[in-house]
Amino acid sequence: MEIQSEKNDEKILDVLIIGSGFSGLGMAIALKRKGRDNFMVLEKGPSIGGTWRDNVYPGCACDVPSHLYCYSFAPNPHWTRVFAPQEEIRQYLEDCADTFQVREYMHFNTEVSEARFDEDNSLWVVKTKDGKKYLCRILVSGQGALHIPSLPEIPGLEDFAGDVFHSAVWPEGVDLNGRKVAVIGTGASAIQIIPNIVDDVERLAVFQRTPAWIQAKPDWKLGRLVQLYLKYAPLAKHINRWSIYWLLESRGLAMLRNRRWSLNELLARLHLRFQVPDKKLRNKLRPNYRFGCKRVLLSNDYYPALMRDHVELETNAIEAITPQGVVTANTEHYVDTIIFATGFAVTDMSVNPLEIYGRNNRSMKEELAETSKAYLGISIEGFPNFFTLMGPHTGLGHNSMIFMIESQIAHILSALEEMDKNHARAIEVTAEAQDKFEDEMDRKMAGTVWMSGCQSWYQDKSGRIATIWPDYTYRYRQRTKKIVTDDYKFDKR
Ligand code: NAP
Repeated sequence: MEIQSEKNDEKILDVLIIGSGFSGLGMAIALKRKGRDNFMVLEKGPSIGGTWRDNVYPGCACDVPSHLYCYSFAPNPHWTRVFAPQEEIRQYLEDCADTFQVREYMHFNTEVSEARFDEDNSLWVVKTKDGKKYLCRILVSGQGALHIPSLPEIPGLEDFAGDVFHSAVWPEGVDLNGRKVAVIGTGASAIQIIPNIVDDVERLAVFQRTPAWIQAKPDWKLGRLVQLYLKYAPLAKHINRWSIYWLLESRGLAMLRNRRWSLNELLARLHLRFQVPDKKLRNKLRPNYRFGCKRVLLSNDYYPALMRDHVELETNAIEAITPQGVVTANTEHYVDTIIFATGFAVTDMSVNPLEIYGRNNRSMKEELAETSKAYLGISIEGFPNFFTLMGPHTGLGHNSMIFMIESQIAHILSALEEMDKNHARAIEVTAEAQDKFEDEMDRKMAGTVWMSGCQSWYQDKSGRIATIWPDYTYRYRQRTKKIVTDDYKFDKR
């Protein structure tokens, strides 16, 4: 792309990236490796890592095997477990920033508040919360989907006398020793937290609205010998990564078709049967919806934690919170600490503080208020020179998000190359291509397990699912590799 260096004495960036998690950092590294170094990364937090910097709750770890949950261009033979803990993943991202020398492009504690497309100059005008302004040709959002904690509105919450916090905003140094604790929610975060605090607390009340399908977690330590082997045997490294990939991809078989029965469901049923001998507890923990409809969880220590004498699993709905506890159908659970493991605001655009205005001042928040749309989950009609990573339709229920992120980055690089070739100052997906893609997503989604009748965070208010990629990930890779130029229009003024 031709870089216009100065306009009104203001430096014009070629690319501005929002966020330095797996996606923003990956984009920065990809640009640098391509020799495009007129870019900047604006990060609202104090350091690299996104969700792996923010989520520091006890037991936080990946639930995708780490040899796949890392960049393909930066395999890490040093993972200490099959599923690495949070701190190792955060450190891995820090190390990647140093190895690929992109740290100098990063500005921390800089939260983007507004981005507006200046049509006359084909530039994005980006403003930050602390009053700074940046100009760029291309804007890439690496905001991620899981960064705005969702706190349910429960009557009386504001009067609770003890400590209240969300799993993603774990207070530094909090000591749960001897406390009476309520954990609200039993999703991916809760099942990691509960076994890791159960020994500390005096009493634990777990509030479950819907049980999750849980499978055994094939997790173990990776010793020095394995690490050395993976470091010095490149073929083994390769085979290991791709074996994990295809194993996970095969789980798509159970999800992309709405089958009544699957081997994975049987394994989850057996896991519950063998781990929980108490029939009454087992009945509470057995999901009554199809395997895979909500995110499938992996854990070996969650069920055993629930069986401890000082732990109670409450399945009645929460009615209110009083200064001293949580009230369900006529029972008040006395607690001094409430942990909300209630997930993130994923489909509700209105809670995102970032305002983005495209052509004709079109507001992204308003346009996507009802449901999310994005061609290949990357480009949005009306928003030229804008690309999003981990956008709509690209979440996964069965494989590694890093694979999807790398596919999206390849697509964006291909778009930049095409702009260069065409001497174009702007690129925008056509409305026809986007509509066709959205129709295809809805058609494919209709036959999947995600639409089999459960309630999940994948759905938006209307019940539509625009969060998940309803196909195999290798097909996404094929489609994103190179842009289809007919699906985009180029402004060659
Ligand atoms: P989540 O999966 O959305 O789970 C939220 C939990 O809170 C669910 O059990 C939900 O019940 C419950 N809940 C929500 N509102 C409630 C209310 N008003 N009353 C009672 N219960 C309520 O959130 P999460 O556990 O934070 O995980 C979010 C996503 O983050 C995951 O799906 C995953 O993609 C990612 N994650 C990944 C890892 C990892 O290991 N890689 C770890 C943690 C999180 P319902 O099911 O009834 O809605």
